[in-house]
Amino acid sequence: MMQQYLALKHEYPDLLLFYRMGDFYELFFEDAEKAARLLDITLTTRGKSAGEPIKMAGVPHHAVEQYLARLVKLGESVVIAEQVGDPGTTKGPMERAVSRIVTPGTLTDAALLDDRRDALLLALHLNRGALGLAWLNLANGDLRLLECVPEQLQAQFERLRPAEVLVSDALNLPLVHKLAPALKRLPDWQFDADNGRRQLTQHLGTRDLSGYGAETLSVALAAADALYGYASSTQQQSLGHVTGLRVETESEFIRIDAATRRNLELTETLRGEAAPTLLSSLDACVTSMGSRWLRHAIHHPLRDRQAVVARHAAVAELLGDAGNGPGSAVRAGLRGIADVERITARIALRSARPRDLSSLRDTLNALPTVVETLGPTEAPLLTELREALSPPAESMALLSRAIAPEPSTVLRDGGVIADGFDTELDELRGIQTNCGEFLMALEARERERSGIPTLKVEYNRVHGFYIEVGRVHADKVPDDYRRRQTLKNAERYVTPELKAFEDKALSAQERALAREKVLYDHILDVLGGEIPALQRIARALATLDALVAFSEVAARHDYRCPRFTDQPGIHVEGGRHPVVERQVDEFIANGCRLAPTRRMLMITGPNMGGKSTFMRQVALITLMAHIGSFVPATAATLGPIDAIFTRIGASDDLASGRSTFMVEMTEAAAILNGATENSLVLMDEIGRGTSTFDGLALAFAIARHLLEKTRSLTLFATHYFELTRLNVDYPECANVHLDAVEHGHRIVFLHALEEGPASQSYGIEVAALAGIPAAVVRDARRRLRALENREVGSDSQPDLFAALPADEPDAPSHPAVAALTELDPDELSPREALEQLYALKRLATKP
Ligand code: ADP
Repeated sequence: MMQQYLALKHEYPDLLLFYRMGDFYELFFEDAEKAARLLDITLTTRGKSAGEPIKMAGVPHHAVEQYLARLVKLGESVVIAEQVGDPGTTKGPMERAVSRIVTPGTLTDAALLDDRRDALLLALHLNRGALGLAWLNLANGDLRLLECVPEQLQAQFERLRPAEVLVSDALNLPLVHKLAPALKRLPDWQFDADNGRRQLTQHLGTRDLSGYGAETLSVALAAADALYGYASSTQQQSLGHVTGLRVETESEFIRIDAATRRNLELTETLRGEAAPTLLSSLDACVTSMGSRWLRHAIHHPLRDRQAVVARHAAVAELLGDAGNGPGSAVRAGLRGIADVERITARIALRSARPRDLSSLRDTLNALPTVVETLGPTEAPLLTELREALSPPAESMALLSRAIAPEPSTVLRDGGVIADGFDTELDELRGIQTNCGEFLMALEARERERSGIPTLKVEYNRVHGFYIEVGRVHADKVPDDYRRRQTLKNAERYVTPELKAFEDKALSAQERALAREKVLYDHILDVLGGEIPALQRIARALATLDALVAFSEVAARHDYRCPRFTDQPGIHVEGGRHPVVERQVDEFIANGCRLAPTRRMLMITGPNMGGKSTFMRQVALITLMAHIGSFVPATAATLGPIDAIFTRIGASDDLASGRSTFMVEMTEAAAILNGATENSLVLMDEIGRGTSTFDGLALAFAIARHLLEKTRSLTLFATHYFELTRLNVDYPECANVHLDAVEHGHRIVFLHALEEGPASQSYGIEVAALAGIPAAVVRDARRRLRALENREVGSDSQPDLFAALPADEPDAPSHPAVAALTELDPDELSPREALEQLYALKRLATKP
């Protein structure tokens, strides 16, 4: 047995081998140690190898899915070896064979997949200065290629978030190790462009790949070679649902670099949580297909405005004029719709379970109702979706007839194929259920024929069915009775009829199960021919669900349809931050106007004033508009946008050994080198990570570069008041500010964006608000006053550390306060007190 184990293990050295033994899957040697650690299961030993006890750990077979799920989440891959021999006939160790390979990027099993996100398998290849990517979503058959510059690596990772990454042994890209969750190194020869081209051409049944625009993408095709080989070997069969290939180009989507995706908290918060994010605030989808579509869309805002406008038109129609559109009815109709996309993949890979088919049947049957609630459509996209939702009549009929209303979970339990679908199966089932009736009828008939009133038809496990006749009636037994057994007072017989029945009945159950398996395979064959139609339906359902979600969110939160124009710029009226507005009691809406003559907004104002919120909301509104969503604003008009860049917040990237300042400058460099006139750039407090003068100098130079060279549409938030003077030389740089008012020593933020620079930064007030001890706050106020006075008085640099008068009193107090301090109420007569009160009042109201 161990030899057999080692032979299998030799083929899959890097995977955990689950080796079936009776009711358990066992792991041995290092696999056992690793699994014990990762799964928190007991490590034991069994037998010896080279004098050492063999380490062993196991999991019960009925709970295997949950252990697999945990391992896959940890980025591990597993190969499962099942017993294949027949325990009744096999001598020596049972034979075992690989039945399943589970890796993080090749999941199709409902139990292992996260239904709200895709699990992608990505292969990377680097050749002659180009980075080739090929990726596959095995759970829907979507295969894509892209070639780009190696610097794009991180951005692509952030966008695609692959679950598993394949690279060649020879690849030397240190960043990959940091980024890739489950990295598999494959021999170099598996990355061969010619072979990749050949494999794909063969698979897609085309003459070459030029129809897909992929013929000459040799770096990506080399990656595709490895990808295709790996994916097919894990599935151990051809990938029937990969019916096409798509080449992505960088210019298709609004460019968003890795840092910006994180900073804008598109699908994950900076802390790595799923909410609150843009996705969580837009995801009113009722199907997981819709949620996945939305997640993808958010990471892929389209530059093709026609496509986006088509989505807007669809959302508008779903919403209706006064919110009376069909959106909510369609949404209700989509509830209970199954994950057709993933079921289709499992049909293609022949791993669909009975319940997959029954849900597919119910979903196909529900489509006409969905289409009906959609009603007659005007928006071309909705009409397109309507048409795409027509179910393939033949499969629908087949499923309705063939699959039991509520089939069992696994095929081997039987009860999957509906009654009335197959005569042979019905007969076999009939034998089982009609057994009793048949025997009673037979008994009655035989009694009458033989004239023996006590004749009985019975059954036991050793002898099977028999007719028992008491010895006294032995002479009446008909000729065709064959003696089976003799007892003291009775004889037992069989007849040819009873024998035939027995053969049938005993094997009926087994044969019924076998018949069900044959029929099920046949159904999968037929459905396998309908993959493209099912994929079309899945895509249409996902899109419709997401569009309905857009309309739902728009209705709930009063979003409006954005407009596009060819005039460069961004014009938002009454804009809100889609996430923050749901977290505060009252959100103050702010407009934003960027145009060629007003290309940069220099934003000043106190900390906590709302600068970051404002900048992000402009970026999010821009992004939302380009995925087809309505936007949180009373109006938004957008010129052409090719990229969104942000430099926001401070975070150390310790893992790659970069300090906060280094990260800040790296991101700024990417912006200065990459942004164009049509890019939206967000710069939040650039220069903060270094000394004041360094920082100010850098911020100044960066702002000038953005104004003069890149000429991007820029929102520039800063604490350096000096920068507000830029608009003297650059009228296209406008000063705006967020205000606060002081109320006693407290500060109230107004969150309203105003023209002009801020007058104060209120840093100390914010510190007080945050709970800095009162003594420290007082000390800071005194120092600030001293610094400000000195700066006004002389040209020399203010000296923070110059001694201040030992106990400089607080600011000269108001004369009324001074007078009040002097008073001793106990010394005053009532009349004097009244006079003093008038005097104080005069002092207090004097200008
Ligand atoms: P800054 O970047 O100026 O330090 P933030 O943008 O981080 O300030 O805003 C601080 C907090 O103020 C936010 O977390 C939010 O609660 C609140 N806030 C910001 N903008 C608004 C607004 N327009 N209306 C209401 N509250 C806001």
